Amino acid sequence: MDFPILDTQVYGHPLVYLDNAATTQKPQQVIEALTNYYLTLNSNIHRGTHYLATQATERYEAVRQQVQQFIHAASNKEIVFTRGTTESINLVAATFGRQFLHKGDEVIVSGMEHHSNIVPWQLACEQVGARLRVIPFSDEGVLDLEVYRSLFSTRTRLVAVNHVSNTLGTVNPVKEIVGIAHGHGVPVLIDGAQAIAHMPVDVQDLGCDFYCFSGHKMYAPMGVGVLYGREELLNQLPPYQGGGEMIKDVTFEKTTYNELPYKFEAGTPSVGDVLGLGAAIDFIQSRGMDSIVRHEEQLMSYAMDRLATVPNIRFFGTAPGKVGVISFLLGNAHPYDVGTLLDKLGVAVRTGHHCTQPIMDRYGIPGTVRASFACYTTTADIDALHAALLRIEPMLM
Ligand code: PLP
Repeated sequence: MDFPILDTQVYGHPLVYLDNAATTQKPQQVIEALTNYYLTLNSNIHRGTHYLATQATERYEAVRQQVQQFIHAASNKEIVFTRGTTESINLVAATFGRQFLHKGDEVIVSGMEHHSNIVPWQLACEQVGARLRVIPFSDEGVLDLEVYRSLFSTRTRLVAVNHVSNTLGTVNPVKEIVGIAHGHGVPVLIDGAQAIAHMPVDVQDLGCDFYCFSGHKMYAPMGVGVLYGREELLNQLPPYQGGGEMIKDVTFEKTTYNELPYKFEAGTPSVGDVLGLGAAIDFIQSRGMDSIVRHEEQLMSYAMDRLATVPNIRFFGTAPGKVGVISFLLGNAHPYDVGTLLDKLGVAVRTGHHCTQPIMDRYGIPGTVRASFACYTTTADIDALHAALLRIEPMLM
């Protein structure tokens, strides 16, 4: 069994874990990488001459290389380890904001962003008197690219959009979005939190300037994430946090900064979690990204067909080719009630606004119930969700 936690019993039912967009479970290999680090390698990296420090440093840097290859970055200097997507976006918003945003400037985001890709930009804009422009989306959950094209002005400084919506499952045409922005000389940040475990990501092919993701949504431990940034652009940004490791020389008069990527990795990183991320990439590659994609495609089509037979179900997000996530309501029942009853039957889903309140406002609803998939999700899990919904629907209508 790759995922020991999936054997859990919940209120006498076998656990059906459909909350993978919030976090995926961890395979045995990742848990072992983490425990082995603390059992055999624990030490602080980069500054040590002793055996453990050298070994840990080598392993940590090897994962940077692995990440570089996994997302096909041009150089490992472009891979910055962070705590997760949120920190990656905050890093760019704070530093890009300080360097390039001025009063009257504009940042384009989409109407289907996670709060993590809205609030950091609002903070950066507030500091200087810049503002957000928002790409709207259709009832199906498809971005309006015509409006997007019309949002550009001489004041546009950056575009920040997600690759896959965590609430609607829409796969946004990020390559096209990048192409349009670059046509105006504007860089693009992509929030890849919901894409990275579900599809191959090639940052050079996408042409994006920044790409952010979290380890814990791709079978790795919590506490580690990645910021990919084009080397030329990262070099133009000021440091994010000050501290150890990010400096070259410190005097009380002047400090000079370390080279990439260390300039952005102040302080002791989460070394064990980074090694866990390496093991998670090994896991994904051993399953094969192509076969994960195929499996999840079949599962999505099976699940949409099956759930459509539940009386009074209403889906939110029906874009063609959507990935990983099904958001729905049962009539006007509150999503929290649906989620609580599902839980009692062993089915773990997420309810609420999923950190995307503007999406809820767009549809005029308080929240949704969200079932989300991973590579270990089976048609039996979908059948269990379906059976549980059939059971609770009459109670709520
Ligand atoms: N962006 C998207 C699209 C997400 O789904 C999430 C998490 O759900 C985040 C950003 C934030 O990720 P984290 O909490 O791991 O930083």
